[in-house]
Amino acid sequence: MSQNGKYPRCQQRGSSPADGAAYDDQIVSSATESAAAVTARVPAKVNLQLAVGPARPDGYHPLVTVFHAVSLFDEVTVWQAERTSITVTGENAAAVPADKTNLAWRAAAAIAAAAGRKARAAAVRIEIRKRIPVAAGLAGGSADAAAALVACNELWQAGLSAAELRQIGGDLGSDVPFALLGGTAVGRGRGEELTRALASGTYHWALAFAPAGLSTAEVYATCDRLRAARSQSGPVPPADGSRAEPAPALSHELMSALRSGDPAAVGQFLSNDLQPAALSLQPALRRTLAAGREYGALGAIVSGSGPTCAFLAKSSAHAREIAVALTGAGVCRAVARASGPVPGAALVRQDSAS
Ligand code: ATP
Repeated sequence: MSQNGKYPRCQQRGSSPADGAAYDDQIVSSATESAAAVTARVPAKVNLQLAVGPARPDGYHPLVTVFHAVSLFDEVTVWQAERTSITVTGENAAAVPADKTNLAWRAAAAIAAAAGRKARAAAVRIEIRKRIPVAAGLAGGSADAAAALVACNELWQAGLSAAELRQIGGDLGSDVPFALLGGTAVGRGRGEELTRALASGTYHWALAFAPAGLSTAEVYATCDRLRAARSQSGPVPPADGSRAEPAPALSHELMSALRSGDPAAVGQFLSNDLQPAALSLQPALRRTLAAGREYGALGAIVSGSGPTCAFLAKSSAHAREIAVALTGAGVCRAVARASGPVPGAALVRQDSAS
């Protein structure tokens, strides 16, 4: 957030500490007049830790997670329009709803309501250019919601602060506030209660995308089933017959490794409580993880609810080697290299009406 509490209009050229090159095409906006079109760019996330507690009565699982934004970006452009519409292009666009259920559409509606815009004044044409795979555990839908919030805030000169956008984002989805914030951060509650992590260094990743996505709800349900089965078969059941999962706790080893900026230490402490469920739903991911380890990954983990596998490399060149090796081994649909941490949703372009 800027000093005056308003959302930063644009990142300065090359302002990313982690991946300056990825930000070279960002522009500094004069932004004194309202624009006809505004574009925001937003990163994917991986979870360096995902600790999942037992389901609460409302069905949500309390989480402690360490989010990490990586340089794999979707772009969202919004235009003034007579009526709201949405188009999606790019990576697996056909799997993304092009209607009012799209999270970017819902984000535009939410910000229009917050800004008191009604009827035609709240209409917007939305175009999403996807590079973040869908249903991949990389929070692509949440990312698009975050980008739409930032872009509509600018298009309509709504003047909402970063904190207000995060509040609206949290109502849309638990990963949206982090997509706005970016960097490396600890998430609690449903993941929406964020604290920036003290992390140094740049981390290089190879990401392996699977042929099919995973439903987050199904992964959580499978996690619950596996835990229930384990508690039935455990050696000494407690007297009341239950074997409650412990409350999720932050890994202090991981936090200390992040402070040290040592990728080898970070790689050692990556963890994901949803990984057994993702592996049980897509057993082929075991081979993917094993192949990345074989090629010297410092850490190998399923990202979030999966099925994307994230491999922490020693360097950018090593990330490329792992990506090439994974492709050669035929253990995934596609690969990408990314580095992190990178900033959250940011304006990259605006076009004036004239
Ligand atoms: P989650 O954030 O729930 O962990 P994910 O990161 O694994 O999910 P997403 O790419 O966010 O997966 O997609 C989850 C579902 O959200 C998709 O199957 C799709 O139906 C829906 N969805 C709604 N809006 C979008 C969007 N803009 N981009 C991608 N998916 C969207």
